Amino acid sequence: MARYVFITGGVVSSLGKGLASAALGALLQARGFSVRLRKLDPYLNVDPGTMSPFEHGEVFVTDDGAETDLDLGHYERFTGVAARATDSVSSGRIYSSVLEKERRGDYLGKTIQVIPHVTDEIKDFLRVGADEVDFMLCEIGGTVGDIEGLPFFEAIRQFGQERPRGQCIFMHLTLLPWIAASGELKTKPTQHSVKELRSIGIAPDVLVCRSERPIPEKEREKLALFCNVRPDSVIAAYDLKSIYEAPLAYHREGMDQAVLDAFGISPAPKPNLARWDDVADRVFNPEGEVKIAIVGKYTQLEDAYKSIAEALTHGGMANRVKVCIEWVDAELFEREDPAPYLEGFHAILVPGGFGERGTEGKIKAAQFAREHNVPYLGICLGMQMAVVEAARNLAGMHKAGSQEFDHEAGQARFEPVIFHLKEWIKDNQKIARDVLDQKGGTMRLGSYSATLKEGSKVAEVYGTHRIEERHRHRYEVDVKYREALEGHGLCFSGMSPDGRLPEIVEVTGHPWFIGVQFHPELKSKPFAPHPLFADFVRAATEISRLV
Ligand code: GLN
Repeated sequence: MARYVFITGGVVSSLGKGLASAALGALLQARGFSVRLRKLDPYLNVDPGTMSPFEHGEVFVTDDGAETDLDLGHYERFTGVAARATDSVSSGRIYSSVLEKERRGDYLGKTIQVIPHVTDEIKDFLRVGADEVDFMLCEIGGTVGDIEGLPFFEAIRQFGQERPRGQCIFMHLTLLPWIAASGELKTKPTQHSVKELRSIGIAPDVLVCRSERPIPEKEREKLALFCNVRPDSVIAAYDLKSIYEAPLAYHREGMDQAVLDAFGISPAPKPNLARWDDVADRVFNPEGEVKIAIVGKYTQLEDAYKSIAEALTHGGMANRVKVCIEWVDAELFEREDPAPYLEGFHAILVPGGFGERGTEGKIKAAQFAREHNVPYLGICLGMQMAVVEAARNLAGMHKAGSQEFDHEAGQARFEPVIFHLKEWIKDNQKIARDVLDQKGGTMRLGSYSATLKEGSKVAEVYGTHRIEERHRHRYEVDVKYREALEGHGLCFSGMSPDGRLPEIVEVTGHPWFIGVQFHPELKSKPFAPHPLFADFVRAATEISRLV
């Protein structure tokens, strides 16, 4: 039966709770334990799939097709444990499940209340898979005291009481603000946050304090005294140059030891941190630098393309180079020639996206990369736009475009090289969708296989002919254009096993031009960079050494 660590936050949001949880997962693994990480989000959306990337950052997709919080991406990158649909839940999902049961008559005769019905539903979620791992780490989104968060806090309090003693601990992450005028780190906000937590019946076992300065012994003792934790369970979390330093940094501060102590696990198995030493060495000792442009739509908010930025960093680590990313707004190229903007880059990446805005600019970026032999990686919409570019400029189909942009227009403006997929097969079952379907959870989601063409670039890059990658899209390249496009140098080098859905295209004769319908970035890890990203950065590195 798993031991549970609940990770909560206080004072302010964005303190790096997800990263602290992920790093703790990595450290427990380094001591030989198995872990699973889980996220509970208090918002009312059923999942983040319908939220704008500006609101919520990237939507992370699991193998089993759930659209989840981007923290699940951190969890996977640090532990290598593939997240599942059952590792992410929101108030919206909990309530919709309770209401569904109510309508079905499951609680017949009862008044449905937050306690016990909603809290029971949350506890059921927490228990899933408890017998599979040594530790279950559950992070509660938001901060203590938020109205929507209350049922979650109440549920974890009850959960802690119901487990055998010593099987559940609480870790609370707060901020120690630095007051420049008086030259002091202030502990009061943390004291208040812990007071709030204790008022709902939760006493933290470990306190993680974000601080931009070293925490003096005096402040540490004060925190321990006022917050009722042991002094060696006050863990400092300093700003880091790279997130991949987090496991080593938290280990230095004693986080894993404090957690094992709180569970009474003694003697604690010795950690093997070789993996993280190597990761840190690659991050901090690069032997070169490459400049990569990401031409996208949500460029003001880096979190919108979180996994892509991380996967590029991993690609850099594989090649021992630093990857400098520049975010370029695709709309710019709808007004201006891309050449002066893109000339200085060693590679260009066009990421996924939704809607028409910026797409003509993405097409221009793909054209620039193709014509100037600059390495190009197109992901999802970035692949679709590369296909449209090839259709227009290589195959002479001047009206080529995507049905996605014709929906609102009523009358078709484009030749639908990219079309709306209404039926496909998943695990031997037919799935059918319509244009007018509900928006939530109706895309082609999760892991699908692809077969790679013998002798193609991607077969060489992956070193295999069969791959599994994660998807999140409604539209597809129409296979009926395959012959026309292949005749003009756009090779369909990866297909769904039934041969109906193009999964990968590449430009023949170009040093590195690959478009993929799926999201390879979701599976990259610092200790196991994704082959496509590793090779893309390798190609960029070669260019950087030529100039
Ligand atoms: N908007 C496109 C589609 O739905 C691409 C989606 C994406 O890039 N994730 O097919």
